[in-house]
Amino acid sequence: MTQSQFAYIVIGGGTAGAVVAARLAEQSGEQVALFEAGPNDEGQERVLQLRNWPNLLETDLDFDYPIEPQPRGNSLIRHARGRVLGGCSSHNSSIAFLIPDYDLQIWAEMGVEGWSSAEVAPFNQRLLEKVHLETPPPVNQLGMEMIAAANQFGFPTLDFSREQVRPGVGWFQLNKKGPIRQSSSVAYLHPLSQWGERLTIFTNSYISRILFDAQCQAIGVQTPHGPVYAEREIILACGAFDTPKLLMLSGLGPADHLIHFRLPVLADLPGVGENLLDHPESVIYWQANRDVPQETTQFWEIGLFACLEDPHGWPDLMYHFGPQPFDMQTVRYGFPTNPRAFSLTPNIARARSQGVVRLRSADAAAPPLIDFRYFTDPDGYDDRILREGIKLARRFIQESDLRHWVERELAPGPAFQTDEEISAYARQVSNTVYHPAGTCRMGDPADPLTVVDSHLRVKGVTGLRIADASVFPTMIGVNPALTVFMIGERCADFLLNR
Ligand SMILES: Cc1cc2nc3c(=O)[nH]c(=O)nc-3n(C[C@H](O)[C@H](O)[C@H](O)COP(=O)(O)OP(=O)(O)OC[C@H]3O[C@@H](n4cnc5c(N)ncnc54)[C@H](O)[C@@H]3O)c2cc1C
Repeated sequence: MTQSQFAYIVIGGGTAGAVVAARLAEQSGEQVALFEAGPNDEGQERVLQLRNWPNLLETDLDFDYPIEPQPRGNSLIRHARGRVLGGCSSHNSSIAFLIPDYDLQIWAEMGVEGWSSAEVAPFNQRLLEKVHLETPPPVNQLGMEMIAAANQFGFPTLDFSREQVRPGVGWFQLNKKGPIRQSSSVAYLHPLSQWGERLTIFTNSYISRILFDAQCQAIGVQTPHGPVYAEREIILACGAFDTPKLLMLSGLGPADHLIHFRLPVLADLPGVGENLLDHPESVIYWQANRDVPQETTQFWEIGLFACLEDPHGWPDLMYHFGPQPFDMQTVRYGFPTNPRAFSLTPNIARARSQGVVRLRSADAAAPPLIDFRYFTDPDGYDDRILREGIKLARRFIQESDLRHWVERELAPGPAFQTDEEISAYARQVSNTVYHPAGTCRMGDPADPLTVVDSHLRVKGVTGLRIADASVFPTMIGVNPALTVFMIGERCADFLLNR
């Protein structure tokens, strides 16, 4: 590495990190460095072709994190995390929703200032100027009949390109252009050759520590080739697992935990690694009585939103519908499968169980310790929503015209009838929708468990901001990637208008 000083350093070239780096390079007139743990995605067809997303799971491009044993959930879940330029936006299934107004209201009630829907709207607009969205053509016969059956069952058809989510059914928008994903790297960084001296992108460069001066000002990062320094600010964008991990390795986190690992305590921030949120999901699938049409872009293109108990009528249950058996977790527990099958995957839109991310070791090479504590919220809300989600899906299929497609229910199957049986099944085979968030939450700085203020500045130090899904104060009711893009846009704006 020749140059060791830049104006800005962005750590993590993932979903939000690529957005921040590109905007700073475009507009600051200063030199920006972006450090990404994984390789370049440019020209990598296996990454760029959206339809290939399932084949990236558990590969060299996936951190593929294990989780701690889950007494009430599925301990075998592996958490995919893209380890490549674009991060999870280079790995995900590109279902594209802007953050609902309702979630922004909840954030405001929690002490987040300046993130009302009116204040967020210009940043949604900016990202939509870069990120192209498409709605898949309604060509899958089963998909079309599923939507008609849902209408018959009382769920109106929604046009997600025009309206916010409410109970109903519709084809998702996808951030893609033809078969190619619109990841943050594709939409904001490509071609990498355009940047010259404005932006230097270091791929395969894992950052092991953030460096501070005696006044607790973030001044640099430890790269595999030595320290590199930032004159202005450092932006941490490593995602909901690796951002708290890197903060703790750098001396920012719960003091007792840092002391346990003999790490220096620069700032006692008890909220670092707390509030780990997710969208836990389960699955119900049926063997079809004929071949299941496979014309899809990325397999999961239809969403059904239901309201079970939300007092405002907002959806608290979401399903993805797919023309295949989603049997990744069921088969290992002995449930049958069949290639001629289709699935509904209920997930808890605003799950309440809170987990934790901690260090496993003071060695930066060790994966973080991740304990979701799935289905442990005190009043059993998560368990109840998932269980009722299985029951509602079963009733929907039995009572709508989609029953004409069904040979038999494969999982959970007819033996599972009581609430206890369905709950035990739903939790045992549960999976993640891969939406971890919340581990460095944004909010009122006076709240001891917030980690960043409403301008994304890390408390207790200067010169350091966070831009990624870790700053979510609460889980939002839709797929989160576009919200993370928006956070990247906001972070760049805060930096450019200091
Ligand atoms: C399989 C899968 C499917 C999904 N499907 C959808 C979907 O359809 N729609 C949707 O809205 N959301 C989806 N998501 C979730 C969504 O993609 C994520 O919530 C979002 O992209 C997270 O963005 P981020 O910026 O927080 O983190 P990331 O995008 O993960 O970025 C973090 C980056 O930091 C890098 N990094 C980590 N540690 C270091 C380090 N120490 N030094 C340097 N670099 C480092 C990583 O390699 C990565 O590039 C999916 C996720 C997955 C994994």
